[in-house]
Amino acid sequence: MANVTEIFGSSVFNDATMRERLPKATYKSLKKTIDLGLALDESAAEVVASVMKDWAIEKGATHFTHWFHPMTGITAEKHDAFISPTADGKVILEFSGKELIKGEPDASSFPSGGLRATYEARGYTAWDCTSPAFVKDGTLYIPTAFCSYTGEVLDKKTPLLRSMEALNKQALRILKVLGNTTATRVTTTVGPEQEYFLVDRELYKKRKDLIFTGRTLFGVKPPKGQELEDHYFGNIKDRVSAYMKDLDVELWKLGISAKTKHNEVAPAQHELAPIFTTSNVATDHNQLTMELMQKIAVRHGLACLLHEKPFAGVNGSGKHNNWSMSTNDGQNLLEPGSTPHDNVQFLIFLAAVIKSVDDYQDLLRLSVATAGNDHRLGANEAPPAIVSIFLGDQLTDILNQLENGKAKGKIYNNILETGVASLPKLPKDTTDRNRTSPFAFTGNKFEFRMLGSSASIAGANFVLNTIVAETLQKFADQLEAASDLKATIATLLSETVKAHKRIVFNGNGYSEEWVSEAESRGLLNMKSTVECIPTFIKDKNVAVFVKHSVLSKSEIESRYEILLENYVKTINIEALTMINVAKTEILPAAFKFSKELSDTINSVKATGMSVEVAAQSSVLKELSPVLSSFASNINALKKTLEKAGAEASALKQAEAFSKVVVPAMETLRTDADKLETILPADIYPFPTYAQ
Ligand code: ADP
Ligand code: MG
Repeated sequence: MANVTEIFGSSVFNDATMRERLPKATYKSLKKTIDLGLALDESAAEVVASVMKDWAIEKGATHFTHWFHPMTGITAEKHDAFISPTADGKVILEFSGKELIKGEPDASSFPSGGLRATYEARGYTAWDCTSPAFVKDGTLYIPTAFCSYTGEVLDKKTPLLRSMEALNKQALRILKVLGNTTATRVTTTVGPEQEYFLVDRELYKKRKDLIFTGRTLFGVKPPKGQELEDHYFGNIKDRVSAYMKDLDVELWKLGISAKTKHNEVAPAQHELAPIFTTSNVATDHNQLTMELMQKIAVRHGLACLLHEKPFAGVNGSGKHNNWSMSTNDGQNLLEPGSTPHDNVQFLIFLAAVIKSVDDYQDLLRLSVATAGNDHRLGANEAPPAIVSIFLGDQLTDILNQLENGKAKGKIYNNILETGVASLPKLPKDTTDRNRTSPFAFTGNKFEFRMLGSSASIAGANFVLNTIVAETLQKFADQLEAASDLKATIATLLSETVKAHKRIVFNGNGYSEEWVSEAESRGLLNMKSTVECIPTFIKDKNVAVFVKHSVLSKSEIESRYEILLENYVKTINIEALTMINVAKTEILPAAFKFSKELSDTINSVKATGMSVEVAAQSSVLKELSPVLSSFASNINALKKTLEKAGAEASALKQAEAFSKVVVPAMETLRTDADKLETILPADIYPFPTYAQ
């Protein structure tokens, strides 16, 4: 059995290790940098580097790497050995402060959205000491931010760090007006719940669609799917359990507090949730979690699928982004306490989130928009892509009271009666759960549920932090100028509720009625990624990022290009894979079966006996038209692909891929899936959903 307390964080250069190994003065100066966001002086960096290197070597490291999050969505690393040659033909192991603080990877092969020409290929990585370094696979990993020679950011981490800074600044202003004299820092916190699928690796290897695109492009629902609802929280099978145990241990070593694991709704679907931490560390941890999930699956003869919709007809995978703000004097700013109606601080921060989500629905929707997530949001079998907030009856009632003046009381007492005397009386949360809400208040945090399972959480969080910072700034401006603070707060809350209550919806977010109701409330419903991307460069959205120094105008424009490019490339790979599999695997299988049937019919007839061939003929008659439709739809898809690729601008291309190529893929799939139901199991060329 693993000794959890011993292994937890054993591969991390964490606070305990720093305190133990660094000289007192260096530790203090590094702590200041980490906790208060102050610059680290060079001599301290030199000492940290040397101590960090000795520690890493003890942990078996021979190399170090600046680890960063380029716009590919996955992490990047280039390894350098610690070695430095000596005059006598040997080496010593060295690692300087300069090497710790700054790296110079060639930036030309990372997506930049036209930010820099290839001759300006120089890029820089800068140590982000707020996320601890760690040792993995014999290498010291140093979390870094990545930017171009001209200082524009090329990664997902930097805007996140900047947005945390922006929120800190504005939230502190509010706390100060309310009389808090002890808090000096507000950080955003995140606990991302990660969903994933596990499939047998040998079967996985036989499906090019899974290998190249991460999802199945063909496949019929098996006779039994998720309809009995017997998988959610079901008992965990031995093979999966062994995988989960292994994963937990590897994550714990890296200081990732993997806490909860369970089976999810779809067959072969599971979830892992860590304990929340600061947004930037949570982002790094989630990237590592996804990487380890895939690596450890290999050890167990499994493949881990992180795609948002690996299988049609069963639930897809998301990532619930539990988000809140906390102070360094120990408060969670979204904690309602036992009397939420007169917890002014809570009500102000709650109102700020409500206003921000309403004002920037488009940015939140954009922050989760990818080709993969289009299958989960606004598609046939998924919830609508409308952003709304669930508050629950208790808080909604308080908001209603606020709208009309002061909130005087709460509607429930918080004890849950079970009616069984021997069972303990349970304290109740202030909200019930609503699984259908995209942005739900869950007791002392908001759960943003629209994120796709494969995405970095950096995008959603830098948007969330920035828009809340914007509202907090507006609130702080008003409160600081108030002559009668109490009256000003009452007016502010009442006006905010009046203006933004349309975004609050406590009903069933998956229902048809909600779609029309939301429309009448004037809420956005942007169904596809391509519809979302142009909202990025709208004036009001550019303004909010620029104002809070999260992204510059040119950085936004480059990200806009990258989003379009990513979308086109993803669909292009899917369409090419589809054509390849259709032509080289499914079509030959269908020909083979067609020949087998014809041969059987002929040979039965050749016996000259008066026996029936009706059964064989009827299957052949069923097969033939599907086969010819399938063959001609392969060509049709090819044509749409060529046409879409020839469009001039990135936006036009993306639109063509979304409106023409995607439907052509769906048509081709319909034929292929019919063929799957006709072809014999031993002729169908690859493993099916049932397998
Ligand atoms: P669910 O019932 O929604 O699946 P889980 O227990 O799986 O809930 O996940 C809840 C997540 O919310 C955990 O990662 C938890 O650490 C996180 N969380 C709790 N409090 C906060 C907070 N103040 N800020 C951010 N995340 C939080
Ligand atoms: Mg959950």
